[in-house]
Parts: sequence; C-alpha cells; structure tokens
Amino acid sequence: MMSDFEAIVVGSGCAGPIAAYELAKAGKSVLVVERGNFCGAKNMSGGRLYTHSLRKVFPDFNAAEAPVERRVVRERISMLAPDANFTAEFTDEILRDPANESYSVLRARFDPWLASKAEDAGAEYINGIAVEALLKSGDKVTGVRAGDDEITADVVLLCDGANSLLAGQAVGAPRPTPSQMAVGVKQVIELPTSVISDRLMTSDDEGAAWLFVGDATKGHVGGGFVYTNKDTISLGLVATISDLMASETPVYQMLEDFKNHPAVAPLIRGGRVVEHSGHLVAEGGYDAMPPLVGDGVLLAGESALMCINAGYTVRGMDLAIAAGMYAGQAAAAALTAGDTSAAGLAGYRSALENSFVLKDMQTLRRFPHFMEHTTRLFTQYPAMVRDVFRKLFVVDGTPVRPIRKTLPQVAKEVGYLNLAKDVWAGVKAL
Ligand SMILES: Cc1cc2nc3c(=O)[nH]c(=O)nc-3n(C[C@H](O)[C@H](O)[C@H](O)COP(=O)(O)OP(=O)(O)OC[C@H]3O[C@@H](n4cnc5c(N)ncnc54)[C@H](O)[C@@H]3O)c2cc1C
Repeated sequence: MMSDFEAIVVGSGCAGPIAAYELAKAGKSVLVVERGNFCGAKNMSGGRLYTHSLRKVFPDFNAAEAPVERRVVRERISMLAPDANFTAEFTDEILRDPANESYSVLRARFDPWLASKAEDAGAEYINGIAVEALLKSGDKVTGVRAGDDEITADVVLLCDGANSLLAGQAVGAPRPTPSQMAVGVKQVIELPTSVISDRLMTSDDEGAAWLFVGDATKGHVGGGFVYTNKDTISLGLVATISDLMASETPVYQMLEDFKNHPAVAPLIRGGRVVEHSGHLVAEGGYDAMPPLVGDGVLLAGESALMCINAGYTVRGMDLAIAAGMYAGQAAAAALTAGDTSAAGLAGYRSALENSFVLKDMQTLRRFPHFMEHTTRLFTQYPAMVRDVFRKLFVVDGTPVRPIRKTLPQVAKEVGYLNLAKDVWAGVKAL
C-alpha cells in the first residue's frame, strides 16, 4: 500500500527543517509535524549559533538577511566566587571571518525562518499537534500518530529534540539518566541597543558570549551564560539534573542570585524581563547516544543527544543542522533506492562519522564525566582564583608577601594532589 508521504519529519527546531529541506529539494514528498503553534514557540537555546553548518546547506547564506542578532566577536569566561569574579576575555579578527562566524539568535525568530526554507522547497507543515506515537509494522517504523490522525510514510525522521518521547519506540533507546541531562533556565532582558553595546564594548551589530563557572550554579555542576542580542540580553544557567537534585537552592532562585551577583547586575541594570523559559539539554555526550538508525527511522539532533557542553562553548544547533542535512540526504537516497530499512539508511551514520558531528562528540566524550566528577571546578577553584588575585590587588598597608610564597599557600588550601589530579583529568578530557 502507498504511504501518505515518502517522509515524515517530527519536530521543526534546528535538525527538522533542514532534513525536510534536503528531502523536498530531492523531490520527495515530506510532511513536518511540529507540536508548537508556530515553529520556535517551544524552543530555547542560550543561544549562539556557529554558522558553518548552515553555510553548508545554504552556500549563499547571508547573515544580514537572516533573523540573527549580533555577530559574536568578544568571548568571555568567568570564574565566579560568591563575592568576586575573574574574567578572561578573548577578541580576535578571525571571529569576523565568515568561515568561523557565530551569531546570537532568538529561536522564536530564527526557527520560523528555518522552517520557511523547508516550506519554500516544497515541504508540507502541520503545526500545533504533537506526535504521540510511532506506527510500526513489526520492527519497521511506518508512520506517526498525531492527535486523531494516523499518517504513514516510508521513512520517519525524529528531530524532536532533547527529552524525545519517541526515541525509545524508534530504536529502543533508554531514557537518559539524570546525570546525562541538564536543565536550562533563561530570561531575555530588554535594554536599548546602544546601552548593550556600551556595556559590552561592541558595535551595535556585534556582541559578546560570556560563560560563567562557579557561583552561577551555587557551586553545582553547570554554568551561567550571557549572550547579547540586538536589543535584549539572553541570560541564564544550565545545571546537571543529578547534581541539582541535591541542591538546597532551587534553580529559579539560582537564576535570581546570578542576576544579582555584583559582576552581573550592572550589565542588566534597568532592563525589563520580556521572556522566561526552561528547557532540557543533553549532556551525556557520545557514550550516551542511542542508535541513530532503525528500520524506517533516523534520529537527528538532540533526540539522539547530539550536544556538546565543553564548559567554554555550548554547541547543539550546529550539530543538529549538520545532522539534519545528512539525515535528509540519506533518507532521500534510501527512498530513491527503494530501501528504507536500517541497512538502506546506514549511509547516515557513516556520513556523520566522517563529519565534525561524531568526530567532535568522540573527541570530547570524556568531558561530561570530567565535569561531573570535578566538583572543585565549581566551588574551590573560583575561590582559589579569587584568593590569588586578592593577593595581587588588595593593598591595605600590611606588609606585602612575595608572590612566590603566597601562590603556593593558596594552592595548598585546595591540596597540591587534588590540583594535579584535576589538571590531569582536564587535559585528558579535552
Ligand atoms: C539553556 C540552553 C542553552 C543552550 N545554548 C546553546 C548555544 O548557545 N548554542 C548551541 O548551539 N546550542 C545551545 N543549546 C542546545 C540547542 O538548543 C539544541 O542542541 C538544539 O536546539 C537542538 O536542535 P534539535 O533540532 O535537535 O531540537 P530542538 O531545537 O529542541 O527542536 C525540537 C523540535 O521538536 C518539537 N517536538 C518535540 N516533540 C515533538 C512531538 N512529539 N511532536 C511534534 N513536535 C515535537 C519541538 O517543539 C521542537 O520544535 C542550548 C540549550 C539550552 C536548553
């Protein structure tokens, strides 16, 4: 029996519309089912998009015509103690090179634009209905159930993001554990464009990405972030669920305290909160990923836990876009060949293995474990860095001690062995 569509894509965040675009471009009939009333309605990221994978899909990509916010040209990483802050800042002309560019984005603006690319190429869209289950014939996925409708397809692409409720049905993926998932909370804070530019020392179309470790999450595994948009600032934090469960401070209070930290408060002073959101984010890394292919089904993006939180960068969108591209191309090739079994779709996995997606996930596979087990990174080290700089900068009339004597004394408080162990674990993880 003929299927209703050759392909169905579940979810239109980053991976979904790109997969649908590739399928439609190859002349395949494709339906996208997105539970949000409009694309982006339910989506959230920090968010900073590295554009390299988008440029691969759309070689004529022009940031000036896309709904992106500011080009990121100022990188900051801070170690936040409760009463102090140390910031490292990096600027480089190379960050303006189109090959390495990244932009802050607001998903409610960005996602509808991505979806429009798929629609323009010929993909059909249903919005406002969630896929509740996959249809199966034996082990083969044959379509989806959405509301009262059962819609069949030769291949289904799961692009339903973190916390996929369908990955288990598709490929028997176990639910991620609390240590493999983090919760993110974020506020969008409105300020005049020029105020944001002045506070972050940028021009009006360029901005900063600023990550915080330490007191942003009250010493728990995770971190805070600030991204500058045109006339808003995205500010939030991401904290690993297993560690958060032991926290005395609820996550909404952490966010308030982070906003009130003396290093952060001046940045958002006078701003108005215009959006508040929460979302899960995959943190388990390569070893937590489910199978990417089953009979009649492919997983792309965070439904397959494709996300890298390396502390100094958070990346999920560029991975999802690339995975969406390869999934769409592999599904189209399998449809043309008339074989959408797991074997017929296997080219998807090899394409990902040859790309940065699985290479980067593999390179950084130890990092989630390092973060989870190096809790001093979030507690003692920010305090240690504060104490070092106190010795340098606090002048109170008491006799100055030579730095060669004060530095070992500060390090001794953490323990030389602990320090050496953590540095070695960090080197191995990165
Ligand atoms: C706080 C936070 C900060 C982040 N910061 C960054 C960052 O700065 N840079 C970066 O690159 N990444 C960041 N990420 C990660 C990034 O947002 C994700 O990796 C990326 O959005 C994944 O894309 P996706 O297409 O797989 O999933 P999503 O973008 O989440 O899209 C999934 C889509 O599927 C839909 N959907 C879900 N279930 C169903 C269903 N059953 N039926 C129909 N539709 C469904 C959803 O509504 C959604 O539209 C961040 C994430 C969080 C939470």
